[in-house]
Order: sequence, then C-alpha cells, then structure tokens
Amino acid sequence: MRLSDPQLIGALAALGVEHRVGVSLAEKTSLGIGGTSDLLLVRRHESLPDLIRLLRQAGVPHRFLGGGSNVLLPDGELPWVILQLARQDPEIRIEGNLVFVDCAADLGRTVTTCAKHGLGGMEGLIGVPGTVGGALRMNAGAYGTQIGSFVREVQVYRAATGQLETLRGSAINFEYRHTSFAPDDIMLAVRLELPSKPYREILQGIRICNEKRRASQPLNQKSAGCIFKNPPGRSAGRMIDELGLKGHAAGGARVSDRHANFFVNAGHATSADMRALIADVRRRVRERYGVELEEEVIVWKDS
Ligand SMILES: Cc1cc2nc3c(=O)[nH]c(=O)nc-3n(C[C@H](O)[C@H](O)[C@H](O)COP(=O)(O)OP(=O)(O)OC[C@H]3O[C@@H](n4cnc5c(N)ncnc54)[C@H](O)[C@@H]3O)c2cc1C
Repeated sequence: MRLSDPQLIGALAALGVEHRVGVSLAEKTSLGIGGTSDLLLVRRHESLPDLIRLLRQAGVPHRFLGGGSNVLLPDGELPWVILQLARQDPEIRIEGNLVFVDCAADLGRTVTTCAKHGLGGMEGLIGVPGTVGGALRMNAGAYGTQIGSFVREVQVYRAATGQLETLRGSAINFEYRHTSFAPDDIMLAVRLELPSKPYREILQGIRICNEKRRASQPLNQKSAGCIFKNPPGRSAGRMIDELGLKGHAAGGARVSDRHANFFVNAGHATSADMRALIADVRRRVRERYGVELEEEVIVWKDS
C-alpha cells in the first residue's frame, strides 16, 4: 500500500516516523517471499498511540513486522502499510539478574550479551532468528527453553486502550508458540530475569545447541523455521517424513531434504507456491493420520 495523502505524510514526519516508500518485503523476510509496500519505521515508542490513531482516521490498514523470520507474506502490492520498530540505543541494560531489552533487538545478540554478563538460561534460544518482540509474540522456544519463562514485565502498545502500558509477566499466558497478547498489541520492551551462570558453562550450552541446529536444519536455505506446530504428543516433521514428502515441491516451494517440517524457498518461490505446499502437506497428513496440522508460521492473508 502506498501512502499519498500529503497531510498524512506530513503528520507522520511530525511524529518522527520514517516513511519508506515501496519497500520490497521479500528482502525483509527469511523466506524471501513478499510483495511491496510503504514501511513506517517507528523511532520513538511514545509516538505509537498517535501514529495508530492517525492511520485509523485515514482508513489505512497496517501490519507489524519484527525480524520477518516467522511470516509468510502475500506477493504483489500489499494491502497494508508495514510498521516496524527502529532499534533503540542502548538496546540492552543489565542490572544484577534483571535485563531490560528493547523489542527491536536481535534475539541471538541478546542471548550472547547476557552470557557475557554471566546470565544464562536462554542458551536454547541461540539460533532462533528475529527480534525479541517477535520471540515474545510467538513465545519462541527450542531445546526445552522458552522465552516466556524469563519475562517479568512487558511494555506494550495496547490496541484495546490505544495507550502504552506495562504488563506483569504473571498476567501474560505463554504457551507453546502462543501468547495471550491481543493480535494488534505491539511489544516495545521487556524486563527479563535470568539465572547467574559461569560464562564458560553458558558458552558450552550455546555450542551444543548450535551444533544440534546445524546437524538437523537447512540453515543455508531460505525458510521460516518449522511450518507447522507439533500436535500434542506428536512430531509434525516425523509424520511428514514418514509420508515420504522430503523434497516434495509446489513451484519454487519445497519440503526440506534435511528437516521435513522446514519448507524452503528453493528459488523464486511465490507466496501462492508456499501456501499450496502447506495445504497439500496438511491434506496428506490429515488423510493418513487423521491429524489437522496447525501453522506455526504466521500467514498474512490478503483476502
Ligand atoms: C532457520 C530458522 C529457525 C527457527 N527456529 C525456531 C525455533 O527453534 N524456535 C522458535 O520458536 N522459532 C523458530 N523460528 C521462527 C522465528 O525465528 C521465531 O518465531 C521468531 O521469534 C520470530 O521473530 P521475528 O522478529 O522474526 O518475528 P516476525 O516473523 O517478524 O513476526 C512474527 C509475528 O510476530 C509479530 N511481531 C513481531 N514483533 C512484534 C512486536 N514487537 N510486537 C507485536 N507483534 C510482533 C508479527 O506481527 C507476526 O505476527 C525459526 C526461524 C528460522 C528462519
């Protein structure tokens, strides 16, 4: 979506919001899929209530993008403007066992910065791409660790009130790849509490997780990580593998040969290719196992 109203564009500038015109979203997602749209880079968290109000008044729909590592976007001109948070300086502040992190910060860098300060617990999250905000939204997790376990407080733009609010960690439900934030809430900053650990021990944990990832995931190909959530007590990847679907393709979208729950953009995949592959695999799993797979990747539907 392109913004053309000079009054709206002027008001955005007055709020300190950077208006980037005709941005290629394929370049901003780990799948390398997505059309174009104007992108609004939010430099000051305090401007969000006014920004959202402005967009609503002007009838401009919006979607929020973090690091783009868990989304499947449509092709062509997108029907929304894209909001993204600019990184704050400093991104991370550490006081004892408490870590204050900006939600635009890279999750992996956050894990390693904490490690250098002798704060561990999040070793399993190394190698999960994307931002801290995206990790909060998804309750990102791996190797028995999930970010929600460490959350003590979240600063958030609440869609329900149109205000910035601080939520206690205990008031938020963090479940398997699901959280109780409202769909339009925007996470801005978080206070984590991490256990003290010797740096060398944390580093060893990080190395082990990195090795496990390298051994099992197609890290040199464009993907969004696992496409489906694991149904209770079952592994989506194992079912897809048992169906002999590794290498199965729809156009340029392909089930990874390395990890059957990773679908990769094997070159010039369109959004329609990826959605067709998701639908095909889901149907085959339903027919063989009677299990309805739920997407882990967030699919932005344009209709
Ligand atoms: C190679 C690879 C490996 C992966 N491995 C794992 C893994 O082991 N475990 C795991 O959990 N995930 C994994 N993922 C998926 C992905 O990295 C995580 O879900 C990640 O936390 C998404 O963060 P992001 O910033 O990229 O979010 P995005 O993809 O940008 O967004 C995901 C959703 O969160 C919303 N969102 C993002 N930021 C905010 C914010 N600040 N406020 C409100 N909403 C927001 C978006 O609107 C969107 O709906 C993997 C992905 C890849 C490519």
